[in-house]
Amino acid sequence: MSKIIATSAIKGAYKIVERAEKSLKDCIEKHGKDQKVEFPNTGYFLPVIYSMTGIKVEKLYDAEKVLDEAKKLLPPVPSVKVWIPYLGGALDAGIAALWAEEIIEAIKYIDGPLPNNGIWLGAATDVILRERGIEFVDGTAPGFAACVGACKDSKTAVKIARELQEKSIYVFMSASTDGKSMAEQLAEEGIELGWDTRLVPFGKDITSTVYSAGFSARVALTFGGVQPGDYRRMLLYNKDRVFAFVIALGEVDDEKYANAAGAINFGFPTIADTNIPEVLPRGVCTYEHVVSNIPDDEIVTKAIDVRGLKITVEKVDVPVAFGPAFEGERVRKENTYIEFGGNKSEAIEFLSMADSSEVEDGKIEVSGPEVDDVKEGGVLPLGIEVLVYGRKMQEDFEPVMERQIHYFLNYPSGIFHMGQRDISWLRFSKDAVKSGFKIRHIGTVLHAKMHLQFANIMDKVQIKIYTNPEDVIVLKKKAREIFKARDERLGALTDESVDTFYSCTLCQSFAPNHVCAVSPERPGLCGAYNWLDCKASYEINPTGPNQPIKKGETLDENLGVWKGINDFVYKASHQTLESFSAYSMIINPMTSCGCFEVITTILPSTNGVMAVNREYSGMTPSGMKFSTMAGMVGGGIQTPGFIGISKFFIGSKKFIKADGGLERLVWMPKALKEEIRDILEERIKEMGMEDFLDKVATEEEAETEEEVLEWIQKVNHPVLKMESMM
Ligand code: SF4
Repeated sequence: MSKIIATSAIKGAYKIVERAEKSLKDCIEKHGKDQKVEFPNTGYFLPVIYSMTGIKVEKLYDAEKVLDEAKKLLPPVPSVKVWIPYLGGALDAGIAALWAEEIIEAIKYIDGPLPNNGIWLGAATDVILRERGIEFVDGTAPGFAACVGACKDSKTAVKIARELQEKSIYVFMSASTDGKSMAEQLAEEGIELGWDTRLVPFGKDITSTVYSAGFSARVALTFGGVQPGDYRRMLLYNKDRVFAFVIALGEVDDEKYANAAGAINFGFPTIADTNIPEVLPRGVCTYEHVVSNIPDDEIVTKAIDVRGLKITVEKVDVPVAFGPAFEGERVRKENTYIEFGGNKSEAIEFLSMADSSEVEDGKIEVSGPEVDDVKEGGVLPLGIEVLVYGRKMQEDFEPVMERQIHYFLNYPSGIFHMGQRDISWLRFSKDAVKSGFKIRHIGTVLHAKMHLQFANIMDKVQIKIYTNPEDVIVLKKKAREIFKARDERLGALTDESVDTFYSCTLCQSFAPNHVCAVSPERPGLCGAYNWLDCKASYEINPTGPNQPIKKGETLDENLGVWKGINDFVYKASHQTLESFSAYSMIINPMTSCGCFEVITTILPSTNGVMAVNREYSGMTPSGMKFSTMAGMVGGGIQTPGFIGISKFFIGSKKFIKADGGLERLVWMPKALKEEIRDILEERIKEMGMEDFLDKVATEEEAETEEEVLEWIQKVNHPVLKMESMM
């Protein structure tokens, strides 16, 4: 390794560790060693430290212990005259710097300045980790770029950010150069920052660079089943599965070198736009470790090459930037040129299959006014009718494909889409219209994306767009009848009515032994894939993650155990799982990868169960927060007494059927109850227990297990009459 880099990295690590010592000492003087220290809403404590050492930093005295260990990792600064191998020492110094940075950042949450202030977001919560982690799992996001420092000017910052966004790569920003940061440069140019746009400003302090490493560490713990303390697996997991790299912008000082050394431990190389020494031999990273002096207009391509990232960029012929990274971009009212739907007009979207003779591929018609016919601030009704033909096309695929319209229409920069069916809502921004985006481009986007995504089942697609009220009403009437029929068809599907379930092994890219067995009445635990989605996905990609599984001989009807499913799960879980019960959370429950929307667990003294969703950050009656439970349940293991599930599954007839079903439910957060009230009410009507929902406690009635017990006795909850669960 370059002696200059090693020397700087080691010196930088000394400085950061000293800074952490000082912050910690001051904080202890003020608050005492028993002061609680944490990042908000996470079950992973200070994640780099936790993942590498297994130490749960909860109090300041825990941080003191870690800092002692960090100091032991610091090697002597290389002497001017003597040459020794530097790499190992520099890498250790990098880790010491990361641990010290986590402590500095966590102390800021006690004494300020708060890391989440102004444009800065600070530490990501576990909710964000799960939402964004799934994008790394399903390939929507190929990786992230940790951009440290600032570009030579704000226009260059926008160019680099846009280039990364168009390749769907997350941009994590931290630190500054000459008092400026890349995030501030983007804000100056009016670029929307945040997790939704994948432009994530962690903080201006160099120490906030550790949030990138913390994100990676948590991905390994959440999705990879890596056990806290298994630092080797954690680092190798990141090298092999999390495609990240550092872009060093502007002057690289000692502290930045220390962070680069920390990143190399994870297999993340550094690509710099300045002329710093290089570290070219391969070893810890897949290819080169530090590559320098790369011009701004080549830096993204070079970084992708050095990290060994495979990226496919689809070209869609629209006059604005295009890609999934623009999905989260909002178009605010004051920036809107024209809008459709959203209670201001009728807006409907409808996709159906048709005969070959009725579909002219690539034909896009707009009946009614175009954007040019409307003044700024105008509103139009909108009907989007998509006709598809394909030899392998089936009616069941229509709703699956139709749901994609929402995602596809959010990909063009400056276009905002919400809702679906007859409650859709679109906005075109002033910038998009100025760039030449027209209503007909809705058709261009849908034509291109439908072909790209559904090539296996679809041969032709035609788009008819209506912007006059009469045609929209006619389309609405026709579509509503079909929507009703579709709902009835889906509602009639039961686990008994099919002989085939579908696997989903998408999450194996992160949780290698996890497999979801998706049945008509039990969607994947992330809530994103139901049986029809998996069926369509299999037809589209027959060798993909969704494979048909013949149920075969029924081994236990009550538990939901079938020979065919067991055999498949055994193989797909790499022989780690011998039996799987679809309807029990006690006997061989399904594994959880980390993406679950809800965790259900037993409250023993009540003889019932509670369900808590990821968004609920408070303490639950189990004595644990969601994030703590998630740490126990995730990673692709079976945890009897706990299951990770989708929200929808709570209202299914098959919800822990073998353990007593919905009647076991004694507690759930109020917001979750409201969110799924419709499906729950339908289910309790079938059960003939109309007042049941009122008997399920929320945080308003009970916060502890004892209070839940008192509540269920007070309201005479049916669980009191049920046989013992265990
Ligand atoms: S269905 Fe299961 S395996 Fe597939 S993405 Fe969702 S959680 Fe992951």
